[in-house]
Amino acid sequence: MKSDIEIAHDTTELPITEIAQQIGLSEKQLIPYGHDKAKIDAASLANAPRQGKLILVTSINPTPAGEGKTTVTIGLVDAINRLGKSAIGALREPSMGPVFGLKGGATGGGFAQVIPMDDINLHFTGDIHAVSAAHNLLAAVLDNHLHQGNALQIDPDNIFWRRVLDMNDRALRQVTLGKGRINGPERDSGFDITASSEIMAILTLSKNLSDLKKRLGRIVVALNVKGEPVTVADLKVAGALTAVLKDAINPNLVQSLEHSPFIIHGGPFANIAQGTNSVIATDTALKLADYAVTEAGFGSDLGGEKFMDVKVPVLGKEPDAVVLVATIKALKFHAGVALADLGQKDVAAVKKGMANLDRHLNAMTRYGKPVVVALNKFASDDMEEIRAVKNFVENEKGLKMEIATSFVDGFEGSLELAKTVIAAADNHHFFMPLYHADDTIEDKMTTIIEKIYGGKNYELSDRAVSDLAELKANGWDKLPVVIAKTPNSLTDDSKIHGAPSGFTIHIRRFIPKIGAGFVVAMAGKVLMMPGLGKVPAAEKIDVDENGQITGLS
Ligand code: ADP
Ligand code: MG
Repeated sequence: MKSDIEIAHDTTELPITEIAQQIGLSEKQLIPYGHDKAKIDAASLANAPRQGKLILVTSINPTPAGEGKTTVTIGLVDAINRLGKSAIGALREPSMGPVFGLKGGATGGGFAQVIPMDDINLHFTGDIHAVSAAHNLLAAVLDNHLHQGNALQIDPDNIFWRRVLDMNDRALRQVTLGKGRINGPERDSGFDITASSEIMAILTLSKNLSDLKKRLGRIVVALNVKGEPVTVADLKVAGALTAVLKDAINPNLVQSLEHSPFIIHGGPFANIAQGTNSVIATDTALKLADYAVTEAGFGSDLGGEKFMDVKVPVLGKEPDAVVLVATIKALKFHAGVALADLGQKDVAAVKKGMANLDRHLNAMTRYGKPVVVALNKFASDDMEEIRAVKNFVENEKGLKMEIATSFVDGFEGSLELAKTVIAAADNHHFFMPLYHADDTIEDKMTTIIEKIYGGKNYELSDRAVSDLAELKANGWDKLPVVIAKTPNSLTDDSKIHGAPSGFTIHIRRFIPKIGAGFVVAMAGKVLMMPGLGKVPAAEKIDVDENGQITGLS
């Protein structure tokens, strides 16, 4: 089979204006970025009614074998469109950190891809850079404020705002700012990846430009010497930050290999931020199609939970159905099979690994909405292995499972999945929130750890205890909590696979993200700036004399 990028290059794209027409957008509502990408003027749809059902795609804990949420999402959208209903996919934009690091492209695979994959993976329409620019503008203004006499009496030991870059660059995790006689004051700080920026979270949770500006103004960058919050509004730059983001707020329209419409917008990671694409993009898809299909990052313990508990209240719409992606290889990995042996038939290992699937099914069904398992089939999968999963899902869990083969078969590989998902979404089910909005952060964490992760409790570091006291003093202790932890495990230790129980989640720090409207609890060893591996994906990526890119997975 050809590589993803070869398949993508073999496809003739439709002009983006045709894709726009297909979903009822006029030329005036479209802001083209070349021939095959366009921004949608979101303000022009502000008063349009929502007509679609919402489908959320999530998965078991990811493994090095790959699960395929994006691939399944794209196959599903293509298949729904072929069944005579309209569907729009709503995805996140890939970050260049993982693109040049571990993952390569993040635009699906095989015959289920979005295009132009080279552009989408590299810079796209510049939204992520705009987030970096706005974030770093605020950092520059803050340090300038300290330099110019610190009228707001900002406590240099209580500054939350660091700098960001859309790159995996561990050398920047800790830096000393302001070195040199005229550049001070000198202080310790560092860089995080842009996907973890509060401004990325805000961009993806804002409803429109004025909501964006209000949220930016509320960002707490530091405490003053009296322990009181200092905000962006105090620094008087909410307007300037909004100006930097005025184009980035509009969602981006592209197409799949089969010319289904996809809206790609926003890129917060699900381990260190809320992990879902923008409210504006999802809302746009709900307004323009019968089905909006969206993917949340990593497993249901991260992106899935955050979608339900952080995004749903802002979006004002719950998923009508949840698709949980699993693969045979990943189930074997969760049973402890070595990476090199995942291609070999091992029904017993598949059965053992299903404990992880079981935990995610329990987590997602808790919200009251129908859950469908999509088994993303790889060439090495054996039918007996697949039947074991189907037997478990359908006979023991009483849920539906469909095999998805869109990686090889395009839309045809997801027709059964599409029919099952449509049937599930078309029945009404009540939503059951995991926790009450006015529960304390401690109670919310306990609920997430017990009910979603299957763990026992949490433990706070000394620093986390004092952070929590600060949150309480400021009245921020009832916000939703975004637990930042490894995606590879239900615990906070990336090496523990399967479905452990009785474990403790270790909270190192709490970081208030008041503009976004949540508090991040950093668990275990999770870092806000990833590093590159020994052989970064960057070593394989090249471009020829015609501008044709190769090696993007
Ligand atoms: P996720 O969204 O869960 O991270 P992706 O859809 O991006 O997963 O897929 C991860 C990788 O696995 C991609 O490189 C993709 O091409 C590959 N992949 C996905 N599904 C299959 C499949 N059925 N067979 C082979 N490779 C696949
Ligand atoms: Mg993905």
